[in-house]
Amino acid sequence: MMRRERFLSGLRGRVSDERVLAAVAAVPRELFVAPELERYAYDDQPLPIGGGQTISQPTLVARMCELLAPGPDDLVLDVGTGSGYHAALLARLCRHVYGLELDAELAARAARSVALAGIENVTILSGDGAAGLPAQAPFDAINVAAAASGAVPEQLERQLAVGGRLIAPVVADDGGEHLVLVRRDAGGLQRTTLDAVRFVPLR
Ligand code: SAH
Repeated sequence: MMRRERFLSGLRGRVSDERVLAAVAAVPRELFVAPELERYAYDDQPLPIGGGQTISQPTLVARMCELLAPGPDDLVLDVGTGSGYHAALLARLCRHVYGLELDAELAARAARSVALAGIENVTILSGDGAAGLPAQAPFDAINVAAAASGAVPEQLERQLAVGGRLIAPVVADDGGEHLVLVRRDAGGLQRTTLDAVRFVPLR
């Protein structure tokens, strides 16, 4: 599959973490899009997944996995699971992923795609991800795939373990949208603003 190979070699220029590159190579993105869009699965662009939502641009998903850097023993929360593709990549990098998706139909489809990909360490739940999942907290890593306005939701930051990281798109008051990386260490939270991005809004 030419497009897939071209995509994988192009990704090497943007992401250097070998574990992330191996995860992208192992998860077939075509399982996470509708059959009529399968031929575009390795174009580096977001694609519609129904309900007005999109599967994120794959290089951006890989970049976020690299920034979040989940370890093999980590417990991860994925907010805005959508197609389930991002959750599937995270699952290859950690112990277990809990995915939260507001749209119940998308959540059900994501669970099917993840199972078809042969991935067993993902639990997808339908619900409001902005509230996190207090019953399973604390998380070693939290991934957010829908843009919060103003700041990262406090409830999510509260569910970070010491040593834990969170990555989320945030729309600032001036309308600019960037990835924000949050780290909890013993002294508290450190927030760093990174790449300019565009995501659907967190509802
Ligand atoms: N990570 C996804 C990208 C999905 S786009 C992928 O790999 O395909 C963002 C998703 O966030 C959408 O599916 C949308 O329904 C969901 N979403 C928006 N607000 C949400 C909320 N408050 N809780 C849970 N999911 C939410």
